[in-house]
Amino acid sequence: MNIILLGPPGAGKGTQAARLIESHGMVQLSTGDMLRAAVKAGSEVGLKAKAVMEAGDLVSDEIVIGVVSERLDQPDTKAGVIFDGFPRTTAQAEALDNLLAEKGMSLDAVVEMQVPDELLIGRIEKRAAETGGTRADDNAETLKKRLVNYHKDTAPLVEYYKGTGKLKTVDGAQEMDAVTTAIAAALAVSA
Ligand code: AMP
Repeated sequence: MNIILLGPPGAGKGTQAARLIESHGMVQLSTGDMLRAAVKAGSEVGLKAKAVMEAGDLVSDEIVIGVVSERLDQPDTKAGVIFDGFPRTTAQAEALDNLLAEKGMSLDAVVEMQVPDELLIGRIEKRAAETGGTRADDNAETLKKRLVNYHKDTAPLVEYYKGTGKLKTVDGAQEMDAVTTAIAAALAVSA
């Protein structure tokens, strides 16, 4: 099963992905994690992405699609992939369709986690305090920009995937376990 977790920053995509990994042995493909690793390693991709990420802007489609394509070629993805934080633009969604077709893979579902902006701001501020600033983009100013970018660039993907009949919407404002249960129900698997 290959799925996309779609939702704004702070929606809890990472937490829910971790639970799906544990319960269903899937592999998480988080472009944010991969880009942060590239920045840390000082690779060419990392050098290009660093300032953009710190500002809360989107890294170019070309870079992100390249990173995803390489990752999909690793054999562990056969177990099923959870796309977390990707795609984030319509161009990325179209590229993902092409990549999956090229690699003989397909998309089973897109889970949209709906969370109101007010709640997200509270959650991100808490995360910023807890992680003690380990993520350079976890502060109120960049969060605001990331939310604006989400509504502008990523929210249109809801319509894109509605058209494919694969979109499942869950209430991400609920308590974490309830969200896990709702996602399992949407995917028709055990929680
Ligand atoms: P995330 O951990 O998913 O919140 O991503 C952190 C940052 O990495 C984002 O604010 C972007 O700067 C960058 N990033 C992650 N995924 C993507 C993507 N699919 N497209 C463009 N930029 C991305």
